[in-house]
Parts: sequence; structure tokens; C-alpha cells
Amino acid sequence: MHESSEEELKQLRLRQFLQWMFPVAVGFLLVYAVFAFVLRSPALTGGMVAVGIYTVALAWARRLALRGSTERAAWVIGHALLVMVALGALFLHFLHPALLLMPVCGVALVLPYLERPALGRYMLAAFGVDTWVMVVDGLLPPLVEQPPLPLQRWVLAVAVMASVGLTLRLLAVDSARLRRSLKLAEQAVSTRDEFLSVASHELKTPLTPLSLKLQTLRRELSASTPPSPPERVQAHLDVAQRQVKKLAELVDDLLDVSRISAGRMELNPTRVDLAAVVHDAVVRFEPEAARVGCALTLEVDGPVMGRVDPLRFEQVLDNLLSNALKYGAGKPVHVRLERQDIRARLIVRDEGLGIAPEALERIFNRFERAVSGRHFGGLGLGLYIVRRIVTASGGTISAASVPGQGATFTVELPLGASASLVPLASGGR
Ligand code: ADP
Repeated sequence: MHESSEEELKQLRLRQFLQWMFPVAVGFLLVYAVFAFVLRSPALTGGMVAVGIYTVALAWARRLALRGSTERAAWVIGHALLVMVALGALFLHFLHPALLLMPVCGVALVLPYLERPALGRYMLAAFGVDTWVMVVDGLLPPLVEQPPLPLQRWVLAVAVMASVGLTLRLLAVDSARLRRSLKLAEQAVSTRDEFLSVASHELKTPLTPLSLKLQTLRRELSASTPPSPPERVQAHLDVAQRQVKKLAELVDDLLDVSRISAGRMELNPTRVDLAAVVHDAVVRFEPEAARVGCALTLEVDGPVMGRVDPLRFEQVLDNLLSNALKYGAGKPVHVRLERQDIRARLIVRDEGLGIAPEALERIFNRFERAVSGRHFGGLGLGLYIVRRIVTASGGTISAASVPGQGATFTVELPLGASASLVPLASGGR
């Protein structure tokens, strides 16, 4: 488990313990006070002092816990319990069985909070206190006169029930939490396994045509007659190059996601003409558009100067354009860049499959997809990376769609210096 979440868990347990224990201690204090006063019993007055010390210690621990000193608060509670038991042995002779039991329950209660050496010392102290109780209560006559027998039985029964009940309750809460964390860990492992199987399948897919094309080329080049025409060789090489590009893109996406998770991806904004970057991207995608039979159109209102990271902006464009061609069903794809005061707005619109309304937000999360993996390959990482780049640049990205009629992705980016060197911190999904 992550260190900070373990600390959070300890604090939560401690708060829960104090939440229950404090009213119980105050209740006991009141009972002792009333009976000590009514019966004028020195034994019950001694008991009241012992429980009073414990109640003050609980209040102190509560303040420590609120300031985040979990270990110290546990130390205070644990040792105050031993002091209470040791004092109780002097005055409340009749509580002998409960007093012997309390250090044992105390060990169970402080168990999750203390480090191992501190726990060892605490157990030794608890053992010492139990020996003290045995000697003082078991072997010596009572130091002071004990309260009437019916009251003794009543207080003893309540004390035993309270210590055992509280201990069992806390242990049950702990084990329920443990079961929940185990379930979450199992879910995380199964998501990772599923991702590994999808990722390896996706990485392997381009390798098959690549290796086939290379084999064909080797065969054709080694055959003595007739030599392959250059256009044929060129066509084989084109296919091979496309598969290498696909592989490189998949690996780049995986690297980017691990950089984002580690907070290691940075933006380096420089002053560029966004219109020129968009124009270059469209030109770069023209052969792919022609291959899938898409008409690619571009509209720009002249130069749009701004401070952005050109490589990351190119990455945003590449992702949106390749998605538009991939899910565009061979219909036209329109790209538009406009200037809006101090912001640039980029719109990539296709007339293809479209996206179901429930998926419009989710597709920007890691590994989320809105299509079946059998029909369209992909890892579901492109839009996640795009959104992280855009938001780190101070911009926004959103998707709109009418299913069956296409999808529109709109990116808004600030043109000013606000897009400074911003690390793409981890977080999100
Ligand atoms: P990938 O394309 O590898 O699955 P992305 O993160 O780029 O990953 O996209 C996530 C999902 O969003 C896709 O699987 C697809 O379902 C949906 N999507 C993205 N762009 C479009 C689009 N232009 N038209 C329809 N669906 C899209």
C-alpha cells in the first residue's frame, strides 16, 4: 500500500477509536462519580480518579490526532490505559478479572498504530501491569473498603463487556477495511492484466503485416527473374513503413502515459504560428486520408501567433486527425482554426460513426474506448494524453456528437504567455 494511504488509514482508525472510547470513558467517570458520592466509597473515588486520568488522556490524544501525530496519540492512549489499570488495582479490588483483561484488550487496540519495537515495549509494560494487578488484587487484602456486593457485580459485568465489546468492534472494523482494500487491489491487478493483454495484442498487430511485407520483399529481390518493378517495391515499403509508424505511435503513447503518471512530462512553449502547424499536420495526413478515401478540408483565418509547445500541439493535432480518419467511415473530415481574442479555437469534425452521449466525457479517461476492440484497434490512450496536454497548456477540450452522423472535437488554447513551462503533473484517471 502507498505510504500516505497507510498513514491515512491509521488516522482514520484512531479517530474512530476515540469517537467510541471517549463517550464510554466519560460514561464510566460519571457512574463512578455518582456512586462514589452517594455511597461515600473511597474505593469508587479511587476508581473515579483512575478513569478520570484515562479520560483526560483520551482528550489529549484527540488533540494530538487532529494535529496528525498518530503514533504519539496511540502511545498516550495505550500508556494511560496501563496507568488506569495499575491505579484501579489499588482501589477497585473487586474489578480483578476486568483489570487483568484490560491490558490484553489494550494491546489489541494499539496494535495497528505502533511500530514493532514500540509495540514490544508496550506489551512488556502491559505484562508488568498485569503482574502488579495479580499481586495487589490477587494476593493482598483490599487497600480500602470495597463497595456493596450487588454494585461490585454490576460494575464488573459492565467493565468486562465494555472492554471486550470495544475491542471486538474495532477489530471487526479493521478486518472490513482490510477486505475492502484487498478487493480494490484485486480490481487494480485485473485492470492491469487486461491492459497488458490488450497492449500486447495491439503491439503485435502491426508486426504481422510488417514481417509479411519484408518476407515478400526479400523473396522478390532474391528471385533472379524478372526483377520487381520499382513501384511494386515502393508499395511494399509503404505498407512496412505504415506498420512501423503505428508501432512507434503505440510505444510513444505508452511512454507518455508513464511520463504523465510520474509527473515527468513538461511543456516547452515557444512563439509559433498555430495556423502553420495545423497546415503542416493536414498536409502530413493527406496520404492517409487518400488511402481511406476521406476528403480532408482546412479552414484558417490567416496566421494565429501564440505561445504553445509546438511538438505537443502537433501531438494533439495528430491524435484528433488520426481518430477522425479512423472513425470517420471514409466521409469528409473538416479542420478549422480560428482566433478568438486571446484564444485559439481548433475544431476537428468528421461525419463518421459518432460517439454515444454517455461516452462523450469518459473517452478522455485512461484506457477508455467507445468502440469494440474487435473492429477498431487502439489502447484508449490518445484522448487521455491530448486532454492532459491541453489542460496543462491552460486550455480545454470537449467532444460533441450525433451518433451515426459524426463527432466534433473542439480545443481552446490561450495564446498568451500563460502557457508557461508547466509540468504535466500526475493525477486524474
Ligand atoms: P483509441 O482510438 O486508441 O481507442 P483514443 O483515446 O484516441 O483511443 O479514443 C478513445 C475512444 O474515443 C475511441 O476508442 C473511440 O471510441 C472514441 N473516439 C475518438 N475519436 C472519435 C471520433 N472521431 N469518432 C468516433 N469516436 C471517436
